[in-house]
Amino acid sequence: MVKILDSTLREGEQTPGVYFDVHIKLAIADMLDALGIDIIEAGHPLVTPEIQHSVEEIAKRGLKAKIGAHARSLKLDVDMALSCGVQFLGIFYCVSDERLSDQDKKLHQAVDQIAQVISYARAQKPDLLIRYTPEDAVRSPFQNVLDAATAAVTAGADIISIADTTGFMIPGTPNNLYDYVKRLKEELGKKNCYPQIAVHCHNDRGLALANALDGFRGGAEIIDTAVLGLGERAGIVDLATLLVILTQDFKMKNGWDLTKLPEVYQLVSKYSRISIPVNYPITGENAFTHCAGVHTQAAIRNPLHYQSVQPEVVGRKSKISLDHMSGIAAVKYSLDQIGESNLEKDFVLRVLERVKDVGQRGRTVDLPELKYIVRYLREHSPC
Ligand SMILES: [Zn+2]
Repeated sequence: MVKILDSTLREGEQTPGVYFDVHIKLAIADMLDALGIDIIEAGHPLVTPEIQHSVEEIAKRGLKAKIGAHARSLKLDVDMALSCGVQFLGIFYCVSDERLSDQDKKLHQAVDQIAQVISYARAQKPDLLIRYTPEDAVRSPFQNVLDAATAAVTAGADIISIADTTGFMIPGTPNNLYDYVKRLKEELGKKNCYPQIAVHCHNDRGLALANALDGFRGGAEIIDTAVLGLGERAGIVDLATLLVILTQDFKMKNGWDLTKLPEVYQLVSKYSRISIPVNYPITGENAFTHCAGVHTQAAIRNPLHYQSVQPEVVGRKSKISLDHMSGIAAVKYSLDQIGESNLEKDFVLRVLERVKDVGQRGRTVDLPELKYIVRYLREHSPC
């Protein structure tokens, strides 16, 4: 069963200018927990005392989700994370040749450090869920990643996270996560190492979601997400879109309550001050709105003609938009909704004309405005 690790509170705060106050962080954590998220990455406690305090507050909340902290491969970070009372610890260390040479380190020195820190963390808290992330794994030499991952698992790591830190992978090319996850699992298996595999996909090429699904098909058991896909640069996998696809198309069930998605998206959008694009899948204002005349005519009969995702899955409804693209069917349907069902055909055509005029000025007509249009036209009959 695939698990979701949501990193809105950690990766999401790496979006330039985004910071959630502690009381907002608690509200977001509660909502993610109610949604059924398995692991909530609450922050990197070493970054500021206030983040440390937030991680502590979330960890002692008694949520069903495991609460996690981020840590460099240093005892200092591990101690600080564990002092917050977390149940999950994510330790990262890049083992690419370039980064090792920048730090004047040999691979074996890095691997020793990773293993020592993980052994230390394991000794401090035997039931801790430990993840090791070789940052930029997919652009690092595979053997380096394999050596580091093997040492990490042997030292006590439960999860190896394949980080596509720069959004480098592309499904269907030699650089794809499906093959990468399969190969890593096979190679680790040869060493009697069977960690859970996570995928952390950045969206630099707009392919974070596609890559995450590719990794999932290749055998990944955990997928990292953020509300609104927040994160460094172009962000990471969007939580809502992933959950809908896993539920609807891959028939995965893990106790997720997708009807809670709009609420958490509104909250995160408000306090990150990043608006949800109107055309964003699942949570965007227009995601289930039909506009063009042909579309609305068919969608009024059966929304499935122009929808492959059911809005009810996330507690939303289909909508009809009235503007310059509207036809008679959309106007009649909307007039029904405001209790104006028995109007003469000529009058309905005048309403349609008025709606198109408004639409050409770049606005849509909502139901309250439609009432004003009807009243105006009644009061101004053509001579
Ligand atoms: Zn990241």
